[in-house]
Amino acid sequence: MDKNLKNFSRRHFLKTAGAVGVGAMLPSPAVARTPAVPPLARQTADGQVPTRPFGKSGRQVPILSLGGMFDIAANQVMLRQAVQWGVTYWDTASSYHAGSESGMGRYFSRDPEAREKIFLVTKSRARDPEGIEQQLESSLARLNTRYVDLYFIHGIRNINELNDATRQWAEKAKAAGRIRLFGFSTHNNMETCMMAAAKMDWIDGIMMTYNFRNMQTPQMQEAVTACTEAGIGLTAMKTQAGPSWYDWSGSRTETEALSEQLRRKGWTDGQAKLKAVWQNPHVASICSQMDTMRLLKENVDAARDTAVLSSEEAHLLQRYACITADQYCTGCGQICEATLTARVPISDVMRYHMYCQSYGKPEWAREQFNALPVETRQQMARADFGAAERRCPHHLPIGRLMRQAVADFG
Ligand code: SF4
Repeated sequence: MDKNLKNFSRRHFLKTAGAVGVGAMLPSPAVARTPAVPPLARQTADGQVPTRPFGKSGRQVPILSLGGMFDIAANQVMLRQAVQWGVTYWDTASSYHAGSESGMGRYFSRDPEAREKIFLVTKSRARDPEGIEQQLESSLARLNTRYVDLYFIHGIRNINELNDATRQWAEKAKAAGRIRLFGFSTHNNMETCMMAAAKMDWIDGIMMTYNFRNMQTPQMQEAVTACTEAGIGLTAMKTQAGPSWYDWSGSRTETEALSEQLRRKGWTDGQAKLKAVWQNPHVASICSQMDTMRLLKENVDAARDTAVLSSEEAHLLQRYACITADQYCTGCGQICEATLTARVPISDVMRYHMYCQSYGKPEWAREQFNALPVETRQQMARADFGAAERRCPHHLPIGRLMRQAVADFG
């Protein structure tokens, strides 16, 4: 590995960080919902989004990936524009909106030559080889393709969800040319999953929750370094780090001041948060759900722009993350969930709140919540979360938010 890449650290972030921070201060969850600001003008010579190597795969991927958790079948023009701007890493999943995989498949059916330009990723929620096999077959059919470039086991919480049977399945699927690379996505206990994966030579790629809030913890830095040294390609998701609940009482003045400073620089809050992540050269790409042309344009502009966060902005962003830490769940479910006798997926429910509160997706949150077993939802309503709250490193009001989920989503 390039030695220059090994030493990305908190100090490095603060010295060289570009715009990351201020945007985080804004309450709005997604770039598309931020106020209009001057566009970012600087572009690469060919006007395309820059690329980075994806681990040791030998593939180059654009630093911005189109997250497809929406009805792409009804948004074909988005795909066409994404290709023109060089956003040729597309991410979908068998469990996403019914029009996601089929929408990409529709695009390939109309423009078969486009398939070879795309680094195509889809995912399976299954854990057993038979289930994974079935889901891959269905995905290939919907995507109208013979292969995917990278296949993820979706949303693991523990590396034990992958085993030797998984490895054998992945090797067979690669040999058959149906997948080119294999890995997993994770938004729970990411650091421990990544550390374990770094010792598994059959993991090619990981998509993990990674943002201005968690990217500077020693555990995440160690995990990223381990994966980079192992040649695993990394894709960051949840880079906007939206809170699960909002409390303005302690941060309004500072938030507004920082937001104003960011606007003066010409960045939206979402663009600044993307830049924070891109500052780490170990991250190959950011997966962003871009379901409007405006959001696609803003993110592409940010990717083309070479300006970075100033150290002052990086400090401000860190301060904001600190002030609002009790509003954002970092996905360390192994800490709080271990205190319960009932099996309540606290970190997942926190993520449902985040989608509802910060990403404007209450229907998705409700759907996910109601997919939990009835018994789990009942236990959530009556469990004592006192011990979980005492152990939570960020002091989230777990009990209140679990009961609020039952009331709001149930
Ligand atoms: S509620 Fe707290 S301990 Fe539990 S996963 Fe979230 S941040 Fe971690």
